[in-house]
Amino acid sequence: MPWSERQRSMLERMGLRVWARGAVAAPSQAMPPERQPAPLKVRPAPTSAPTPVPIRPAVSAVVPAPAPVVAVAASASAAGAVSTLDWPALQQVVAGCRACGLCESRTRTVFGVGHPQAHWLVVGEAPGAEEDRQGEPFVGAAGQLLDRMLAALDLSRADDGARPAARSVYIANTLKCRPPGNRNPTPDELARCEPYLARQIDLLQPRIVLAMGRFAVQSLLRSDEAIGKLRGRVHAYQGVPLVVTYHPAYLLRNPADKAKAWDDLCLAADLAERGPR
Ligand code: SF4
Repeated sequence: MPWSERQRSMLERMGLRVWARGAVAAPSQAMPPERQPAPLKVRPAPTSAPTPVPIRPAVSAVVPAPAPVVAVAASASAAGAVSTLDWPALQQVVAGCRACGLCESRTRTVFGVGHPQAHWLVVGEAPGAEEDRQGEPFVGAAGQLLDRMLAALDLSRADDGARPAARSVYIANTLKCRPPGNRNPTPDELARCEPYLARQIDLLQPRIVLAMGRFAVQSLLRSDEAIGKLRGRVHAYQGVPLVVTYHPAYLLRNPADKAKAWDDLCLAADLAERGPR
């Protein structure tokens, strides 16, 4: 797909370089062979951007992080309860969920937004104050940055019935309720909420998962490694290719890392085009 003038100008305004299809990536050896994408060509290094971070082959660097026994039991029990729900039933269950203490302080649950068969899934962390008020993930300045980066790839969270699934993104958070004062979620809260995200992924069957931020990575990859060490290569969540990248809120504070986040999006775009569905 050639870049439109609007997309080129959007990228330039964001300080990012233009993505060309057929780029980057070494598939993870941890990914099942049937889900591994076809070999990808290496994108020539641009002249105007910071030195790209080399794409390292993913091996066994992702070490499962054990969750507390109580949390695991709660999670397993909830997983059984939600594993057969369809979209409307799942949304209804989440809206009424009182499985952890965050139900006491939330204004509303933040379920997720987007095309129910979108090829892309973006997973964030926990709702902030504005998300808690509006009931939608990634609103505010961080959400606008995410939307601009996705728009540069002709992707959108808009589910207006006209946009094809291949150009659509579903956005969900790891945690559906806001931790008070934007504190970090606890392992128990993450474990209790995890079955909802797992069921969303089950229903969505995305072609690519983009995990944004530390808690999304902890939940999906069971890894405590830094984002900087996990990004730039291909992981897998239940057979679906998964790319780790920085959270847009982090990028607003550290704009120098936008180029790396853009590389991650380009890697995800290649996988989404090439991977099976
Ligand atoms: S954070 Fe998740 S588990 Fe806790 S009350 Fe909200 S929906 Fe339920």
